[in-house]
Amino acid sequence: EQRLSARVRNIRPSATMAVDSKTKQLLAKGQPVINMSVGEPDFDTPVPAAFAGVRAIVNGQTRYTEAAGTIALRKAIAQKLATENGLSYAPEQIIVSNGAKHTLYNIFASILDEGDEVVLPAPYWTSYPEQISVAGGKPVIVQCGAQAGFKMTAEALEKAITTRTKAVLLNSPSNPTGAVYHEEELAALGEVLRQHDVYIVLDEIYERLVYGVKQVSLAAVCPDLHDRVLVVNGFSKAFAMTGWRLGYVAAPADVAKAIASFQSHSTGSPATMSQYAGLEALKHFDPSVVEVFRRRRDTLVSGLNSLDGIRCLMPEGAFYAFPDVTGVFGSKYDGQTIESSSDYCELLLEHALVASVPGEAFGAPGYVRFSYAVADGDVVEAIDRMRAFHQKLT
Ligand code: PLP
Repeated sequence: EQRLSARVRNIRPSATMAVDSKTKQLLAKGQPVINMSVGEPDFDTPVPAAFAGVRAIVNGQTRYTEAAGTIALRKAIAQKLATENGLSYAPEQIIVSNGAKHTLYNIFASILDEGDEVVLPAPYWTSYPEQISVAGGKPVIVQCGAQAGFKMTAEALEKAITTRTKAVLLNSPSNPTGAVYHEEELAALGEVLRQHDVYIVLDEIYERLVYGVKQVSLAAVCPDLHDRVLVVNGFSKAFAMTGWRLGYVAAPADVAKAIASFQSHSTGSPATMSQYAGLEALKHFDPSVVEVFRRRRDTLVSGLNSLDGIRCLMPEGAFYAFPDVTGVFGSKYDGQTIESSSDYCELLLEHALVASVPGEAFGAPGYVRFSYAVADGDVVEAIDRMRAFHQKLT
């Protein structure tokens, strides 16, 4: 007799969390670790949004809202999707949840039956396959290497779709690779998707963070697919609101209704004060953060490429660099042989005090994710430390 359900027994512990706890241990011991394993902006929530949250608390806006979020916020999100993304949605089609992570879980729970397949490219965000599996679905992973810019081609997508495919999941800009799908690539994927009756889940949480390229939604490129598209977004990355827990989906009306109903019986409404903060945040995106991230990206990627055994593509969005570190496999540090990206990350953390996440966590062994959501000076210092580390490799 098992004490725990098969559902949770099969969840793999998060590699991100493992690095995180090791990093925190070192920091607690007073070691000056540069934490490039994090997935959150290093700046603060815009002050007007923070005050809107505080005002809501003080003014007694501290009760439940509609389970799917306040009408005011859902209207404002619909308005945002119209003006910024060229997408037309009624407020009833917007469901607000406790972060985009929660939104995605709601979606899989609402559209997947046991054994339904979800096609997604690797490298992928670490929670997708776990969420799909917990909801009873089967992740079908399409390997998209550096040669393809870490992007899924129309041919690869066509090959992966079967009669069991219920949904295709795309994340652009991507965590962990920073890859951004361009308009013509989305159009080519749309050509394939048009031939198959599947949902298309678009995780666009990093949409604002693109560097010199245009971010477009497949939903806007292929308006004829509107009835099958679910656009996921949130406040965490663009507005540095990770702790407020606020995300949303724009969905076909029947799916939105199902998600709202599922949410009403699981978590209920998202935190009321967070919704007030989010409503204000929508008016306060600070475009200067894009320039800040771009500068750090340039420093980090050129620094990484100057190290022996490391090769890194130039990411076009998000705040991650995703280099190939297989060039150091077989090398030794202090007598310890590096045989995997996990080995590399572990040694780098211990001896160079730079925290990163091994590619295994993203379905991409041989790679490592470095977040550049850290101070400019820390990016420079991290490269210096890595250079010293690499010089000691034998
Ligand atoms: N999607 C991607 C690709 C992410 O990287 C993250 C956060 O790391 C999320 C969704 C979830 O963000 P949140 O739940 O904070 O809105």
